[in-house]
Amino acid sequence: MSQIVVVGSINVDIVSRVADYPVPGQTIHSQSTAYYYGGKGANQAVAAARAEGAVAMVGAVGTDPFGAEIKGALQQQGIDTSAISVREGATGMAYILVNDAGQNQIVLTLGANGTVTQEDFSQASMETAKVIILQNEIPWGTNVSVMQWARAEGIHVLLNPAPAIKISAEVMPLIGTLVLNELEAQYVTGRSVGSKEDAVLAARDCIDAGAQEVIVTLGEHGSVHMDREGSGTFTPSYAVKAVDTTSAGDTFIGYYAAGICSGKPVAEALKLASAAAALSVTRSGAQASIPTLEEVEQFMN
Ligand code: ATP
Repeated sequence: MSQIVVVGSINVDIVSRVADYPVPGQTIHSQSTAYYYGGKGANQAVAAARAEGAVAMVGAVGTDPFGAEIKGALQQQGIDTSAISVREGATGMAYILVNDAGQNQIVLTLGANGTVTQEDFSQASMETAKVIILQNEIPWGTNVSVMQWARAEGIHVLLNPAPAIKISAEVMPLIGTLVLNELEAQYVTGRSVGSKEDAVLAARDCIDAGAQEVIVTLGEHGSVHMDREGSGTFTPSYAVKAVDTTSAGDTFIGYYAAGICSGKPVAEALKLASAAAALSVTRSGAQASIPTLEEVEQFMN
């Protein structure tokens, strides 16, 4: 029975390496093509499951061959996928071209992610749910309905509004934990965020607007946590050699939620999350780079 319910996006990322970009009308050969499972929702669900949390995912995949494959892969991680719907059409997809200069061009297909509704959410069993995790890669209206439902039921909501979105005065008080990276913190508060001190001020703005708890992540510079009682505490990051920072934030969020659900105090859950995220940046890929709890515990000792 799941304690952590992630409502969010499920994507496949198709990455082709090319010497140079094609011009309109031109056909070129790629140097290589690979595909990876992604989507912030699915990444955070996988992170929480690798942290040994009991996780269910609510979302949608398409009827293309990727849909069934991704759903099966999430299930193999021990995630309850019974509330993942299969919708006629494409699975959410990012088609990424990386050129020799290391630049990228991305075409994002919302696909089935754009069809996720409150009704999909109502398919999930919520009897043992302690936290609902949301991002911003499914319709925002669905997120708001889920947050309103959660408030009425007294279930904690962790929101990671990525891509960044302005949060209205009515929605802010529905948020239990708001997790923002620097750019999101900037967008949400309208304040420039480039330091720990700025992060504290941004977190304070969100608390004043009604959020119960705020975490601003600062990449290799660690994170700032604030709740209604505190004036802001800083958690340093672990020093590692970064290879690929994709999904550091998702790893951090999944581990933090699982840590709190397993009864860890906030400071310990933050430390665990920052160790897991640090380990993830030492590896390539999105879901593939998320470490297991055993690996994280070894890394911390
Ligand atoms: P992404 O969008 O790449 O998933 P994000 O921008 O949402 O990430 P970040 O603020 O970059 O999130 O990182 C989240 C947390 O991951 C940081 O607070 C830190 O603990 C850890 N982290 C990120 N980058 C590094 C790094 N280079 N070295 C060590 N830890 C890191």
